[in-house]
Amino acid sequence: MNFQLSEEQLAVQKAARDFAQNELLPGVIERDEHQKFPAEQIKKLGELGFLGMMVDPKYGGSGMDAISYVLAMEEISKVDASASVVMSVNNSLVCWGLETYGTEEQKQKYLVPLASGQLIGAFLLSEPEAGSDATSQRTTAEDKGDHYILNGIKNWITNGNSASTYLVIAQTDVAKKHKGINAFIVDKNTPGVTVGAKENKLGIRGSDTHSISFQDVKVPKENRIGEDGFGFNFAMKTLGGGRIGIASQALGIASGAYELALKYSKERKAFGTEIMNHQAVAFKLADMATQIETARLLCLKAAWLKDQGQDYTLAGSMAKLYASEIAQSVTNEAVQIHGGYGYVKEFHVERLMRDAKITQIYEGTSEVQKIVISRTVLK
Ligand SMILES: Cc1cc2nc3c(=O)[nH]c(=O)nc-3n(C[C@H](O)[C@H](O)[C@H](O)COP(=O)(O)OP(=O)(O)OC[C@H]3O[C@@H](n4cnc5c(N)ncnc54)[C@H](O)[C@@H]3O)c2cc1C
Repeated sequence: MNFQLSEEQLAVQKAARDFAQNELLPGVIERDEHQKFPAEQIKKLGELGFLGMMVDPKYGGSGMDAISYVLAMEEISKVDASASVVMSVNNSLVCWGLETYGTEEQKQKYLVPLASGQLIGAFLLSEPEAGSDATSQRTTAEDKGDHYILNGIKNWITNGNSASTYLVIAQTDVAKKHKGINAFIVDKNTPGVTVGAKENKLGIRGSDTHSISFQDVKVPKENRIGEDGFGFNFAMKTLGGGRIGIASQALGIASGAYELALKYSKERKAFGTEIMNHQAVAFKLADMATQIETARLLCLKAAWLKDQGQDYTLAGSMAKLYASEIAQSVTNEAVQIHGGYGYVKEFHVERLMRDAKITQIYEGTSEVQKIVISRTVLK
């Protein structure tokens, strides 16, 4: 076992840290306040190769490993989880899905611009009636021979308005239940595609979350991903890797809040001494540091398994479950350590506390992760 990061991994971590501090930190409070999508910053992240980190360079990606991806996600999420969710969706769900299951033609046409950051993508699985139970797809994809006709509504879609390329999950054959579900690549500007209003959210307010409706949308057959009926499997496999991304996002939110609390505890004085000298505060910091280190190890283990070509489903679910749970407690304690100053926007920790909550909900709620984990351990 080797816990040493390589020179390359350390360089990626530093580049992500510098980017977060120099490009994302200025303006992050205003973007959160006004729900402004970090368009310029995402463009730069793409230019630096952070939107197609694990994609083969021959398809426009950076050819890095999953460990580097975890390191970069942590650094970006420490400062701006609205930017890191764009990174996570584009890398783990969209690019990975296309690179792993797309045809050569699909890769050339869609993966190259997505991995090189010229365009961004979105993953459209959830519906008003199909969240945790993703088999209940109401969006239909009627097989018309050389094309499909899509009808239905997707909701909660990250990058809903800013993406150019959608990966859409829809039901073709209801009788076959989840084996009758397909996945499609759909251009956002296809006639019949309508982007709904932006959701007004508790956290990750800079990310653009929209419902998307499809009315008689014609999708050529060559835009289906995989064999007929592969869509549900595609979604589950893709989300399996996505969980490493969201686990790392939760880790970053927690470690960002912890670093701010640690610094503040060395500056703020109460009862004639820095508050770090009060054992109640020091013990909080000890608990936070231990939880963060545990979450980091779980994220890195899941990424390592992925890099080794081994099954990472269980490790990814454990990492997401644990990291998202501790992101709640760590950010909450970070606000507590800041006292009243933690409750106002200028000190950042209240935003991190709000941002943390989503990591327990999307890409499989904590309860869904426990279903995945218990199924495996009870086998
Ligand atoms: C900001 C945001 C961004 C999102 N981005 C995307 C995106 O880009 N693409 C996309 O497709 N989706 C996206 N989602 C949707 C997200 O994945 C779903 O909200 C999530 O899967 C939960 O589904 P639901 O909201 O329908 O809740 P439900 O499935 O209705 O769950 C409600 C509650 O019941 C619990 N529950 C449900 N079933 C069980 C069970 N069997 N056992 C125990 N408890 C259960 C859940 O854990 C939860 O606590 C996003 C959501 C949000 C809020």
